[in-house]
Amino acid sequence: MKSAENIKHDLNAIRATLKEGVALVAVSKYNPAEAIVAAYEENQRVFGESREQELKGKHELLPKDIRWHFIGHLQTNKVRFIVPYVSMIETVDSIRLLREIEKQASKIDRTVDVLLELHIASEETKSGLTPDECRALLNEGEWKEMSHVRICGIMMMASNTDDESIIRREFQKASDFFDEIKQEYFADADYFKERSYGMSGDYLIAQEYNSTMVRVGSAIFGERNYNT
Ligand SMILES: *Cc1c(COP(=O)(O)O)cnc(C)c1O
Repeated sequence: MKSAENIKHDLNAIRATLKEGVALVAVSKYNPAEAIVAAYEENQRVFGESREQELKGKHELLPKDIRWHFIGHLQTNKVRFIVPYVSMIETVDSIRLLREIEKQASKIDRTVDVLLELHIASEETKSGLTPDECRALLNEGEWKEMSHVRICGIMMMASNTDDESIIRREFQKASDFFDEIKQEYFADADYFKERSYGMSGDYLIAQEYNSTMVRVGSAIFGERNYNT
């Protein structure tokens, strides 16, 4: 693990490059609680995790004013475990998942903020809804009856490539798609305002394409150890 001092330094260096109004989600997946504490001591409160069990452990251990964003692939059978305390689920990629969040949130009379995860990158491996699938989901309209989920915007990942022109094209598509569905479905919803894109390698570029939320992990915490 990077030293606490280095984490604090790099966190503040990244913050200094963020445009006003851009939120930083510190992606702490696969990093130990001590790494999160270092960032917390610098007043970081929003953290991103991708695995339900890992998130649960950290939630129980760490201060309760942390706002946890779930950013991994979420199985419907795991929804009920995170709904009581998660601050935002950024990876909604099906009506089934949305339905389950609504069901579990209504049981405990909570409203959960979510983002629709979009698949815009050309890579086959990326998850999420294609723009057409997303339009179909919104057109179908079942989501309008859901009073315990609040769709706050979109999330996407650009291709993992050195070709910056590809990354720019994908962010532009995401930005345009946000504008389209904002106008079509959420024109009167003030809360529909988030464009979650930009990671360690591309968050500076993402900000040129109206990102409001960047999810930065390794640039803050160092390389992840996937053997944990
Ligand atoms: C891991 C992850 C990140 C952070 O990636 P870095 O390159 O380490 O900044 C951001 N978003 C999602 C969805 C992730 O899974």
